[in-house]
Amino acid sequence: DTCANAITTHDGTLNSFITPTLEQGRAHAKAADDARAQGKTGPLLGIPLGIKDLFCTTGVRTTAASRILGDFVPPYESTVTQNLLDAGAVFAGKTNLDEFAMGSGNLTSAFGPVQNPWKRTGSEAALVPGGSSGGSAAAVAGGLVLGATGTDTGGSIRQPASFCGIVGMKPTYGRCSRFGTIAFASSLDQAGPMTRDVTDSAIMLGAMAGFDPRDSTSVDRAVPDYRAALERGVRGMRVGIPKEYHAPGMSPEIEALWTQGIDWLRAEGAEIVDVSLPHTKYGLPTYYIVALAEASSNLARYDGVRFGKRVPAETLDALYEATRAAGFGAEVRRRVLLGTYVLSAGYYDAYYLRAQKVRTLIQRDFLSAFENVDVLLTPTAPSAAFATNEVPDDPVQMYLNDIFTVPASMAGVPAISVPAGLDGQGLPLGLQLIGKFFDEETLYAAARVLE
Ligand code: GLN
Repeated sequence: DTCANAITTHDGTLNSFITPTLEQGRAHAKAADDARAQGKTGPLLGIPLGIKDLFCTTGVRTTAASRILGDFVPPYESTVTQNLLDAGAVFAGKTNLDEFAMGSGNLTSAFGPVQNPWKRTGSEAALVPGGSSGGSAAAVAGGLVLGATGTDTGGSIRQPASFCGIVGMKPTYGRCSRFGTIAFASSLDQAGPMTRDVTDSAIMLGAMAGFDPRDSTSVDRAVPDYRAALERGVRGMRVGIPKEYHAPGMSPEIEALWTQGIDWLRAEGAEIVDVSLPHTKYGLPTYYIVALAEASSNLARYDGVRFGKRVPAETLDALYEATRAAGFGAEVRRRVLLGTYVLSAGYYDAYYLRAQKVRTLIQRDFLSAFENVDVLLTPTAPSAAFATNEVPDDPVQMYLNDIFTVPASMAGVPAISVPAGLDGQGLPLGLQLIGKFFDEETLYAAARVLE
């Protein structure tokens, strides 16, 4: 009830929740109390969480922040949310996001933008929380919940975590089940925890992760004790600094923070090594081909017949057209069009196939770097949170937000954003650690030193 009150009192301006779930939350809390009374424990017993409104929750409206899903109420629970409930969590509500998780500012939601709880020193201007998991990030940063789920396709956990001063972990592709998570780009989508600190992240990931036969890309590997990994320290750890991440025009403050992070790790006994990931510059353009191609295919199911909203029309084709025109926002329509184009006969080889080949090269960059180092350290995003009126009109400028987060997504390797300092205007900035496949433990050990 404390959480519910906090949401009622403070979420008016933040708009971080689409659907508060007071009733369900009370039932979860009662279950947690009963379990405790019976002497049972659970890693998240009684812990209030926000759930990104991309995870299907039984009996609770799930919107993907899109009009096209209308009042879709899933008859089943996603594996990740079921795992969290099994660990004793209490769901406070479904959090806001960019429509179908497409965006970097939480500006494309059909339920309105989310405000970042942080403000520049001496200014009341509203800032974006980042995206697409902007509602989850704002709810955690604003203290409305103790943690929240996010999903990350090209940065949607890490970039909002950086903008809101919290910890965001994108695990290895295959670590958390995608079953019951509304798909954006299936070969990239990965769920992860968004929390106030690194310890909470380790506990929450331990509860979310695990093999699931209902997701064919879920990997059958035991979930390690991430909490134990926090105690490892970084003595003798080899930390790579990829030279290609010194992006032209990067703010001197972010460069300085990066150097600071290097110094912290070195002071704790890590060895710093310069590395090169030569295909980094192709990350963004190839991501925006692969992700959009997969999105155009995944979103074909919203046809006005099977799910949610329907705009009636004379013929079936007209019904599809009217429903999709009314149901999807501008950014989603742009992406479906582009994705369909790069998959179309004649362009498939030139764009999609080529992008997939470059994706392999990006992945090889990481594999060869990891022959020499245990982890990579980079900034999370090229800027701090920006104001709504500073949002570029050009969508490609907006896509540049993802420049540092997309390569790890394309490779499938895990990456975490840790709040590491404030800029001159008092806004949080994150540093990113990128790890080897299924080595979230090393990320946690190093993240602990940066927070
Ligand atoms: N900002 C990126 C995009 O718009 C990433 C989104 C995501 O990770 N879901 O595609």
